[in-house]
Amino acid sequence: MNTDIHIQQSDTTIYEDINCFLKYLKQMGATGADINHASLKCIQQWEKPTVVHKQKISTRDAKQLPRPNESTLNAPRPQTFKQSNDTLTMLLKTVKSCTKCNLHKTRTQIVFGAGDPKSHIVFVGEAPGFDEDQVGKPFVGAAGQLLTRIINAMHLNRDMVYICNILKCRPPGNRKPEPDEMEQCIGYLKTQLDIIKPDIICTLGSTASQALLSVDTSITRMRGRFYDYKGIPVMPTFHPSYLLRNVSKKKEVWHDMQLVMKKMQDSIPK
Ligand code: URA
Repeated sequence: MNTDIHIQQSDTTIYEDINCFLKYLKQMGATGADINHASLKCIQQWEKPTVVHKQKISTRDAKQLPRPNESTLNAPRPQTFKQSNDTLTMLLKTVKSCTKCNLHKTRTQIVFGAGDPKSHIVFVGEAPGFDEDQVGKPFVGAAGQLLTRIINAMHLNRDMVYICNILKCRPPGNRKPEPDEMEQCIGYLKTQLDIIKPDIICTLGSTASQALLSVDTSITRMRGRFYDYKGIPVMPTFHPSYLLRNVSKKKEVWHDMQLVMKKMQDSIPK
């Protein structure tokens, strides 16, 4: 049986298409494409329902991925845990009684943030949704479970990072935050970041990225490179909710997270 694949007739078209696509990627700032076995396997793992904090990729695959080592993650922080925790607790009290915008009228409770207050990395989302408003913790719904799998794939778990949002109260019906709501609320996020002093920030989706960096560039154009927030490198990437609807974009997010892991290796004092 002849199993050769004959594509001569369309060779030129395929070549032109690939060439065109590579030029497009280059214009977008790409310097290479990661299709190695470990990365593809890692992304596949994100499809699976997760047992929070338990998911692991095999040691063989893990060895092939950039990985913040123990000394990097345990490197001393500029403030003690107690100092930053106490200051965050004071801020939490203020946010709990906030009535600066109308969202306080419809919230079940505020969603302040969760994780390690002395973490080297902070993930910033948009606003609490239904589940988060009920539970009082960020990213606990479907998008949150995907975020957990992404964090696990970075050889971290949710207790080792800090997760919060631009808005601390849920917009009714999960609508997009209004500009005035973000204006009233973003000061709380900025104070959280001043207290935590992370080495890296990862903004999830266009709303969070644009609000923190004060730009109106689309997330498609922003993602994949670092920006600066008060001297802290910021990596904008796609929001996990968007990934749930656009599975093919997981590659890009994994690319961004690998840059984040590399930056953590390079920038955290050993
Ligand atoms: N989406 C967000 O942006 N934040 C959450 O906390 C949950 C979903």
